[in-house]
Amino acid sequence: MKVLVTGGAGFIGSHLCERLLRSGSEVICLDNFNDSYTPSVKRKNLDCCVRCSHFRLVKGDILDPEVTDAVMEQEAPETIVHLAALAGVRGSVLDPLSYVDTDVKGTVAMLECCRKYGVKKFIFASSSSVYGNSGTPFMEENTPPVQVSPYAAAKYSGELFCRTYSHLYGLPVVCLRFFTVYGPRQRPDMAVHTFTRAIVEGSEIKIFGDGSSTRDYTYADDVIDGIMSSIDLPCSYETINLGNSVTTSILELVGILESKLGKKAKLSFLPAQPGDVPATCADITKARALLGYDPKVPLEEGIERFVEWYLKRVAG
Ligand code: NAD
Repeated sequence: MKVLVTGGAGFIGSHLCERLLRSGSEVICLDNFNDSYTPSVKRKNLDCCVRCSHFRLVKGDILDPEVTDAVMEQEAPETIVHLAALAGVRGSVLDPLSYVDTDVKGTVAMLECCRKYGVKKFIFASSSSVYGNSGTPFMEENTPPVQVSPYAAAKYSGELFCRTYSHLYGLPVVCLRFFTVYGPRQRPDMAVHTFTRAIVEGSEIKIFGDGSSTRDYTYADDVIDGIMSSIDLPCSYETINLGNSVTTSILELVGILESKLGKKAKLSFLPAQPGDVPATCADITKARALLGYDPKVPLEEGIERFVEWYLKRVAG
């Protein structure tokens, strides 16, 4: 199978490229290596992949039709896993228009590629943030979403376009709502990574709110299992949560990191940030039923693996 992975040099994308290559697929990674974080880190993410003869790396933008037409004509992928995006809530509050460009227009541009070039399956990286302040303890796919950030609104718009393309053009689509993914190579702006860095360097961890807000932390390998099963899922259109279905507060997360790093954290408490949601927790009944999804890595173990990677690769 030939798979185009947009955003393949990023955190989740690079893990997916590796897994696809191991499964015998041909992989084309399209990434513009933007400066959302250090581009050389993204290059390094692909260290394992670039050695493989089934791997092709295209540096280019999903919004540039010359690039995407050339990739589609030359490579004719059967499946597109669309991960390229500006990710994260806080940046979107500061610069909503960029998120509309990349996350909405970029998604429609990739859907257009599917329509024009007869792609057989489109997997879209959506987010738990689409649920926003839905007020339910477990977020189930039918929970009415209440987006509270431009990032969430952009991801939800992406889902709507996916559904429209599936309906109009018969494109099989799976929208996957990821819940706070962590693991080696995690984006440096995310909590597990920033907290680890702060504890190691002895600097302050900024906690927005009182530390009681909770997240459903999902280990990268488990999310990759879910993506791989989605590629094989016969369907017309599905929206599926990929989470761990366990909630952990920010202060509990800090406690786990302290114990794995053997060092106390310095905390400073700041007002809650606009756009943040108080809690996320995935109902994964649908993922279990349709994908055979069964998250295997508990938070303590996943954090241990992250810390091991961080100390080896980042702190030197
Ligand atoms: P990431 O920033 O590490 O990866 C995204 C990649 O997309 C980057 O390498 C970036 O260079 C590339 N990119 C951005 N704009 C592009 C463009 N215009 N053209 C080509 N490439 C472009 O982020 P990630 O954490 O790996 O997230 C991957 C996807 O999963 C994103 O769509 C994100 O919104 C979604 N998601 C992630 C999480 C999470 O916890 N990490 C949670 C929910 C959803």
